[in-house]
Amino acid sequence: MVEPEPIPRELLLLFHTEKYLKILEDAGRGEITEDTIKAGLGTSDNPIFKDMFEKSNLASGGTLVGTRLVLEAEGKAFAFNPTGGFHHAYSEYAEGFCYINDIAVVGKILRRDGLRFAYVDIDAHHGNGVEKAFYDDDGALVISIHQTGKTIYPGTGFENSFGEGKGEGYNINVPLPVQSDDEIFLKAFYEVVTPAVEAFSPDIVLFEMGTDTMSNDPLTNLALTNNSFEAMALETGRFSEKLVGMGGGGYNVDNASRSWAVAWAAINGIEMDNPYAGVLSGMMIGPELEGGTLLDNPIYVTGPTKERNQKELDRVLKYIKETVFPKIGVEG
Ligand SMILES: [Zn+2]
Repeated sequence: MVEPEPIPRELLLLFHTEKYLKILEDAGRGEITEDTIKAGLGTSDNPIFKDMFEKSNLASGGTLVGTRLVLEAEGKAFAFNPTGGFHHAYSEYAEGFCYINDIAVVGKILRRDGLRFAYVDIDAHHGNGVEKAFYDDDGALVISIHQTGKTIYPGTGFENSFGEGKGEGYNINVPLPVQSDDEIFLKAFYEVVTPAVEAFSPDIVLFEMGTDTMSNDPLTNLALTNNSFEAMALETGRFSEKLVGMGGGGYNVDNASRSWAVAWAAINGIEMDNPYAGVLSGMMIGPELEGGTLLDNPIYVTGPTKERNQKELDRVLKYIKETVFPKIGVEG
């Protein structure tokens, strides 16, 4: 356990504007102007609260501390910032519970230092702020798998948004229909993320580990369990010696804590040991005791919904393999 540190201003400015940082600081001291509202603050998604700049910056600072530790470590290293992953914040305005975009700031620092990074986002929502930050950069491979923007915030992240200029092909979106389950999500992951990241061969991987894809998340409409979450964590842990995970979304608190524990164990090669397994002879005390393990019982979506989802996934995969992969030399 390491204490986070605030990100120095000159580093925040590699992504955010000075004007926006000042608005955040002022709002946190109760100074509200027309610019505050224009910066997306004071909404139900991004309320104004005391010391909001300092607190947001500290939450984001954990990602920078983790990145430094991982880069300084000899050989394989993984750091996790449960309070990070603010993928919706833009350079000059707040969105979707995100004020300071830790991923964009850290990504800009890595690029300044000549490092190439891959960003893997398995949160249920499209990582729109990160996409924008690196849309024309061929040194940042940005991949987001999410519930389609046709049915959920932020309404973006379609397969035909694949980057521009020299960044063409280095931004990959995999939008999935409602009720996509473990099988659909994992297929998308293995057929898109794995070949793209392996071909790119990054110096470091940033991993947005939102757990709002789970079936009983109150804000989304997917049907995942943490079994696929574990599999994706395990796979992402193999992509690079250096891995920095961030919590991201997850609005069922039990799901978030259980899934992150499962992922932490998977990436670190720790065998999960539940001292309570069997002791209560099947009594259901709480969701954490489901099946006597941290892993969920599987959910299988079947019938016409599954068929429709499989067809839609096949369509998106075909597009990515035919249109996006050739631009970056990936064999689909
Ligand atoms: Zn989310």
